[in-house]
Amino acid sequence: MAITKTNFIHFTRCPRYASLAELKKERLEADISYKEYKQAELQENLSEIIGSMYEINEETGEETDLVDKVNRQLEAMMDYYKLVEKEAGRISEKTFGGKSIFAEKTKDQECFDFSMHGIKYKCYVDIYNENAQGINIIEVKATTSKKYKELMAGHKKCDKYSIWEKINNINYLKGELSHYDLESEMPLKDYEKHKHKFFDRYRLGQYVYDLAIQRYIIEHEYKSTHTEEKLKNFHYYLGVLNADYIFDGTYDNGNPVYNVDVNGNELITFFDMTQITEEYQKFVDADRERLEYYLNDLDASPYPLGEYCGFKKQSGCKFFNPICGKRIPVKNSSLSYIHNGFGFVDESGERRKGLELINEGYLQMLDVPETWITKKAHLIQRNCLEFDRVYVDKEKIYNGLKQLKYPIYHLDFETMPCPVPRFRGEWPYIQSPFEFSLHIEREPGICDKEKDNIVFLAKTHQDEREEMIKLMLEYMNPDEGTLFAQNVAFEKARIKEMAKIFPEYRVPLMKLYDRGFDLLWLVNTNSKMYMDLGYDEERAKTFNFYDKRLSGSFSIKKTLPVFSDLKYDNLVVKNGTEAIVEYANYEKMSKEEYALKYQALLIYCQQDTWAMVEILNALRELVKDLSKNGENVVMFT
Ligand code: SF4
Repeated sequence: MAITKTNFIHFTRCPRYASLAELKKERLEADISYKEYKQAELQENLSEIIGSMYEINEETGEETDLVDKVNRQLEAMMDYYKLVEKEAGRISEKTFGGKSIFAEKTKDQECFDFSMHGIKYKCYVDIYNENAQGINIIEVKATTSKKYKELMAGHKKCDKYSIWEKINNINYLKGELSHYDLESEMPLKDYEKHKHKFFDRYRLGQYVYDLAIQRYIIEHEYKSTHTEEKLKNFHYYLGVLNADYIFDGTYDNGNPVYNVDVNGNELITFFDMTQITEEYQKFVDADRERLEYYLNDLDASPYPLGEYCGFKKQSGCKFFNPICGKRIPVKNSSLSYIHNGFGFVDESGERRKGLELINEGYLQMLDVPETWITKKAHLIQRNCLEFDRVYVDKEKIYNGLKQLKYPIYHLDFETMPCPVPRFRGEWPYIQSPFEFSLHIEREPGICDKEKDNIVFLAKTHQDEREEMIKLMLEYMNPDEGTLFAQNVAFEKARIKEMAKIFPEYRVPLMKLYDRGFDLLWLVNTNSKMYMDLGYDEERAKTFNFYDKRLSGSFSIKKTLPVFSDLKYDNLVVKNGTEAIVEYANYEKMSKEEYALKYQALLIYCQQDTWAMVEILNALRELVKDLSKNGENVVMFT
């Protein structure tokens, strides 16, 4: 075993990692085979895909339990990852010219290594390209360009501009282009502030750090062989999925053909990180020193939790859940206070937030001193837990329920956030719907689980979206009623995307879009809606319902057991992630397994909308004794 790039990243997280990984010092000089290296990298890369899928879910506010990740999910994404690698190789040849070495073409990758202090450092390069200008080292990541391109700045009251300029499918930092008049677009300090974000290896700089380690290994190999003059013409790039790319739907022999799109975009775009990775070298060198110290020390004693643990991130440390973070209570921990990103300020004015609370022994929700609590919502959470009470603002729920128009269309989509677009009009990681369930409630409480339910589920991986839209519009009248969902922003976003891709259905789809209402507005709140209804700001902002079983979350997984006896544990498909896996694996299934899983997907999605019907009924029941005059009932029961 040598120290690979992936090991380097993990072993420099903290002093404890190396000893927990049970690394034996004597193995460090030994080599690692290409197969072993690729296998380890593949696991990391597939994890990144899952991470990117959920990053996008997080934008919609949909809660996903990353801890539930299983290898089957990773395997389901394998084919898509291979496609990203293949396309990156093809497009890099087009973009850079010259000759390239990459696994998809040569079944091999260019390898670099050097030894220092008895440790062998080794990396394989995703794409090694040699053209007239020099050597181009390209690291391919199945993430999108969005997070880089949206680094924008501008002068006061003027337009904002990206800090990147794209020339022939390569993005350059504007400050590094000699001809570029950067100051006319943005203050230089804002540009530098954005650029600085690439030096945060646990956030935006994650992939740049990865590339900087490769550069470190490459440069040390050349230095150790006294051929460093060759390094002058090395350039370092990240190759990522282009967030602006729109697929035209071309297929050849059942395989997608990713032509240049109507706006001239390629599926993969490149970011020149040559300058940044050079600036990174001193940090990588310091990390290499730390790594060697950790490997010599092998100290397994507990280490404070921190950003390096990657808590709740797909790229997080594998020892967090089983070992280091194990003492965090699963329910009602000090981390379960709602919207508490800024933490608490103690009597002396010192602020503690997130994992700092855990490090200092404030594990349970009630461990946080009451004198630190300033928000009404946090006090309610505490009281519900301490005195085993339920908080209900019946009046707000009652008035919220009055806003619903009938029929109520309880709608839920299952979507496939595929790294590469699959159908016409799609882009990387679009949440492409393959299933919906609809329960129609024509009058309050009048809805039959079977008779009033319509489920669409794609039978194949072919484009069945139009069929799905037609079925939706057959049963949903765009001119009446309410489009109802938990996290309705997610369902609305899918409807809007369909309206864009299928303009012939735009008018009715956008009418549905305008009728959205969120179940969370009744259980949690919607400040604007309640202020429009005449509530003062504090009450409008405070949730309508809280029970200690929610443990600081209004996800359907938490609210359902509070309001209903429905369970997911007994289902074959138990959550949205499993639904994606089953759908993604269609073509790998036997006929019998396909029939079983198809049925399981139908039942799972149906349960999602039936759960909303049950919760809505439970809320009506909760406020049924409220007088029509709207007597104020805010209470703990
Ligand atoms: S969970 Fe955190 S403290 Fe524990 S080994 Fe990993 S990085 Fe270190």
